[in-house]
Amino acid sequence: TREWQLAARPHGEPTPEDFRLVELEHPDPAEGQIVVRMLAMSVDPYMRGRMNAGKSYAAAWEVGETMKGGAVGRVVDSRSPAVPEGALVLADAAWRDVAVLDARHVRVLPELPGIPPSYHLGVLGMPGLTAYVGLFRLAAFQEGDAVFVSGAAGAVGSLVGQFAKLNGASAVVGSAGTPEKVRWLTEELGFTAAFDYHDGPVAQQLRTAAPGGIDVFFDNVGGEHLEAAIGAFNEFGRAALCGAISGYNAVEPQPGPRNMFMLVTKKLSLRGFIVSDHADLHGEFIERVPQLVTSGRLVVRETVREGLDQAVPAFLDLLRGGNTGKMIVRLAEA
Ligand code: NDP
Repeated sequence: TREWQLAARPHGEPTPEDFRLVELEHPDPAEGQIVVRMLAMSVDPYMRGRMNAGKSYAAAWEVGETMKGGAVGRVVDSRSPAVPEGALVLADAAWRDVAVLDARHVRVLPELPGIPPSYHLGVLGMPGLTAYVGLFRLAAFQEGDAVFVSGAAGAVGSLVGQFAKLNGASAVVGSAGTPEKVRWLTEELGFTAAFDYHDGPVAQQLRTAAPGGIDVFFDNVGGEHLEAAIGAFNEFGRAALCGAISGYNAVEPQPGPRNMFMLVTKKLSLRGFIVSDHADLHGEFIERVPQLVTSGRLVVRETVREGLDQAVPAFLDLLRGGNTGKMIVRLAEA
């Protein structure tokens, strides 16, 4: 088996030298353990935080430690009656191709016809639930709301905009980093308007895209986007603060929005959240979202890189916007 380990802590943007691919013999499974051949692994922005020393929302990785992350795989050997050979499982498995895992630490996944296993790392997994929780619970989305999503062409953002539209938003505006992504948002996902944040001040572009103001903001980016949204909010506006990727590689604290007094004058609510605290919505999510996927009402896109060798390039590329929809590393044929 091969696995990626953290070789050094990055200063600013990570580089390939911060990671190391090692070959290991995996142990025989003990009683209660399973051997899983991974089909696909996830690279996610939160992993950047785990490369730093000190507490982010997930614990820091130690230098020399295996990189962890969500993965789906097939059980090829089982010493647990609960998780038989052949089962499809979701695990926090690490960046590796084969893993020996405690059967209690994996979730057996349903076999959904026509749905690739990697969707359990995206639309049907953590990013999907993040979009759902943030929009419906934290931002308390209501029919008729005008919604702005930053990072709108990514795994979470592309779902937020579509959930809002399917539930009667009066307008859905998105920002993203390339003209192709902007076109994808308006032409294929049905966003009312979208803009490339490189094209000029976000506040100005947002005013043009949402002339009636916004009621809900789902923030994946932070920084200038957050200040612009505060400026564009209507009274009683609500924001779900999901991420702030514009600052993840920063080596100095980032300046805050300069218009915080508008929280008072417009009576705004800005709420941060971590998806794992909202697992109680998982049942409701699983009742509603898979059928949106199978019926084709939700447009789902992945950017797929092939092979464990590509895990680090995929991760570095994700942080630079090389993905549209969910970034996935495929490790074996399903
Ligand atoms: P994405 O698929 O959205 O990938 C990250 C995207 O960020 C890139 O594609 C890139 O797109 C964009 N980006 C990178 N740098 C910048 C920048 N300087 N300014 C603006 N955009 C930038 O990732 P996810 O959907 O998985 O995650 C989206 C956000 O949600 C992240 O902030 C993540 O940390 C957060 N998150 C939070 C969770 C929670 O529980 N709170 C759970 C899951 C995710 P572009 O080309 O548009 O720049």
